[in-house]
Amino acid sequence: MTELSSYHNHSRWSDGVASPEEMYRAAKATGVREFGLSDHLVIPPGEGYGTGTWCLPPDRLEEYVAECLYWKERLDDETFTIRIGLEVDYFEENHQEVLAELEKYPFDYLIGAVHYQGTFPIDQDAKLWQGLSNQQIAEVWDGYWRKITGLARTGQFSFVAHLDLPKKFFSGGYPSQSSAISQALQVLQECDLALELNTAGWAKPCGEPYPTLPALCEARQLGLPVLINADAHHPDHICRFFPEARQLLQAAGYQQVCTFQQRQRILQPLS
Ligand SMILES: [Zn+2]
Ligand SMILES: [Zn+2]
Repeated sequence: MTELSSYHNHSRWSDGVASPEEMYRAAKATGVREFGLSDHLVIPPGEGYGTGTWCLPPDRLEEYVAECLYWKERLDDETFTIRIGLEVDYFEENHQEVLAELEKYPFDYLIGAVHYQGTFPIDQDAKLWQGLSNQQIAEVWDGYWRKITGLARTGQFSFVAHLDLPKKFFSGGYPSQSSAISQALQVLQECDLALELNTAGWAKPCGEPYPTLPALCEARQLGLPVLINADAHHPDHICRFFPEARQLLQAAGYQQVCTFQQRQRILQPLS
């Protein structure tokens, strides 16, 4: 099966294990028609966030884009297209400046992500969650959903990353978030954002994708555009679990997925 697109992937510019060239060549070898790197841009609004090695150095953003464009020029052909992307952490305090700066670059899509609630790194280490009370866990979730809503309301992002990420370390997912998920999906619809079906969760302690079938069914009913991504940090994972993801989308009633070109969304047949 030739896959249509894989847009959420990381190279050594952030926390991936391979160079952009290795990721692009590996993508081309899979036969995927459109491929993009989306390394992490995280510009925290203050101290104590522990960013650094896992993020793209903000002062090297121009080099990152230039390297993506360099490979696009060399590897694009009639069956393979490189798209230029970025996974951007949303912070209420500074998103306007950050997004304004990104307008200078020819991105095909911007992924909006939330990896922090306050300075708490949501998906970094299971041990950090073990130190939290139930009350504190509930506060992380609440704050997380507020940030997802804020991210959507900027109107600048193409799609939201791993919708229910805070479940990552909870085996079988985390209960009691269905009404928060419904509200978040409603806001995505109002703000015209797409949703990714992020397959990486299948390989994490939660053992399920972000998000699962009930949320995808609701998203379908709301008419939210959707796309499948692997969130690959390794060249072998570029289309990991895509057949399973396609089945889920079909089960939710989806017949189309979306691609992006110069921040414009294009609907395509699912298979
Ligand atoms: Zn992410
Ligand atoms: Zn990612």
